[in-house]
Amino acid sequence: MKQAEKGQTGQDVVFDWKAVLERIKSHSPPDWLFSIEVTRTEGRKITLGAKSQFQALWAKNHYLPLINETAGNLYGKEIFEITIDTDGSGPSGGESRKNGRDAKPEDKEVRAPRAESFPNSANSFENFIVGPSNQFAHAASYAIAENPGKAYNPLFIHSGVGLGKTHLLHSIGNHILKKNGSRINIFCISAEHFTNGVIKSIKTGSMDNFRDLYRFNCDVLLIDDIQFIAGKNSTQEEFFHTFNSLYTAKKQIVITSDKHPSLIKNFEERLKSRFEWGLTADIQPPEVETKIAIIEKKAEKERIEVPADVASFLAQNIVSNVRELEGSVNKLAAYSKMFNERITLELAKDLLKNLVKKESPKIITIELIQKEVSSFFNLTVKELKSDQKQKKVSEPRQIAMFLSRRYTSSSFPEIGSKFGGKNHSTVVHAVKNIEKKIYRDPSVSNAVSALSASLEKFITS
Ligand code: ADP
Ligand code: MG
Repeated sequence: MKQAEKGQTGQDVVFDWKAVLERIKSHSPPDWLFSIEVTRTEGRKITLGAKSQFQALWAKNHYLPLINETAGNLYGKEIFEITIDTDGSGPSGGESRKNGRDAKPEDKEVRAPRAESFPNSANSFENFIVGPSNQFAHAASYAIAENPGKAYNPLFIHSGVGLGKTHLLHSIGNHILKKNGSRINIFCISAEHFTNGVIKSIKTGSMDNFRDLYRFNCDVLLIDDIQFIAGKNSTQEEFFHTFNSLYTAKKQIVITSDKHPSLIKNFEERLKSRFEWGLTADIQPPEVETKIAIIEKKAEKERIEVPADVASFLAQNIVSNVRELEGSVNKLAAYSKMFNERITLELAKDLLKNLVKKESPKIITIELIQKEVSSFFNLTVKELKSDQKQKKVSEPRQIAMFLSRRYTSSSFPEIGSKFGGKNHSTVVHAVKNIEKKIYRDPSVSNAVSALSASLEKFITS
């Protein structure tokens, strides 16, 4: 449908939706975007109709700015005011039309999830930097996003704060949405949101509605920070039943937490064991190279120039938290934009002196690592450095070598010499072995996480 309006030159301008679509093709939108049509025109107001509320919201979140920009380029700025709504042919909207006890699975097509369970469009696989510390969690997440319900179920992602769990969880949601549009209903929610739902349903006596919402309405459940429901018995009970129905129906479940399932306290055993039915993946603190790549990506997004020495300074000094890393780049960006100043190492050191402890820097040494690791495993430093081959000594030794590589700038031979004169290849083997085990063996990954946290406390305290 075309709509005539007076353009800036006084000429009639015709809004041609197909021409706009043609131009945004190069941004590879999902196929269903092409089924959207103009449903209403009122002067310069154009309403586009999507087949469902789900699609309307998604298109609004992801494509409206581009649609506006493209129309602006075609016709001169701001001639048309474009909104996206449903075309009335599909699901009715935010609330399920038929909610509650009489809802059946076949009513599914008349339902649409609510806006608050949408993944945040800012988090995507495209802007997630992959490095050795997160590649396993990333690969598992991607496999799931490509084939929900078929790859691993559930996927359980755990890590310390600010290392990218939420980012990956929302990337899964966005990827599935982009590929499938409204065909798959995704609930991307925090465990806190789930808890609030339980509390509200108990209060209003509408627990059946709450259960049905997940049981019949959800194809993919992405739930963030499950540790939040520790100690909350009614919520755990509800989550247990939700989990079971979705799992039995082969619906994809992805859970994140700040700890490995076995380490969450005040949590029902039956739930913890279910979390381990599928695949457990952890994210470790990023290596310096990954941190530099994250800084570069962020700088690109902020359109600022971060010189290599500044990126390297930040990556070396901001130990583990990607959120802090981003915060420091934001701070530099804000400053340099405000005062129109180039970012230099001096400026970075000055601006970030609260974050980065410049004076009397505390350094993680191999000796400190050996002390921490031996006390963690109840060994003496002498045993750790010895040639003993039993696993209870050799594995901690390998972990200590791995941590020495991660936290010091020592070369493989230097590390070897501090471990009772081991040669270069022994250290290389140890580091590789632990890198592998981190993904497969929760006891190793937990030890590495706990030791990393205590070493990092040392520098940041
Ligand atoms: P968590 O949920 O583990 O606490 P988040 O997912 O919220 O961490 O990540 C914190 C911030 O760091 C977010 O802004 C996120 O986009 C960013 N971030 C984390 N890891 C990466 C990564 N590998 N690449 C790009 N950005 C990342
Ligand atoms: Mg998070």
